[in-house]
Amino acid sequence: MAETIFSKIINREIPADIVYEDDISLAFRDINPQAPVHLLIIPKKDIATINDIGKDDRELVGHLYWVAGELAREMGFADHGYRTVMNCGENSGQTVFHIHLHLLAGKPLGWPPY
Ligand code: ADP
Repeated sequence: MAETIFSKIINREIPADIVYEDDISLAFRDINPQAPVHLLIIPKKDIATINDIGKDDRELVGHLYWVAGELAREMGFADHGYRTVMNCGENSGQTVFHIHLHLLAGKPLGWPPY
């Protein structure tokens, strides 16, 4: 799989504002935030899109959501609500082909997204 900008963040080849890390995942602030809090939670394993999530990756993907909840609690916005989004492919606007869970918080969020 082609190396993405997120692989370079995992490998510390380019900087990022990292807020959480463990052996299988990393979370950092989005460089172009769409809300007062905009985090990206990614697996360290290279998985291009949701279509590429294998049966063996199910626990890993669940882990990303657990990290989202942990960060929400630790950063103090769990009770106010927030949104998690994972885009997939062209029609969703996915631009970085390494799966990432967007976590948006800090203001009322519109729905549906256009
Ligand atoms: P989109 O680019 O349309 O939001 P994605 O769901 O693929 O689609 O999201 C990629 C996200 O990665 C974007 O929100 C973008 O701002 C963010 N991003 C790109 N490069 C970096 C970087 N070097 N550091 C942090 N965030 C980044």
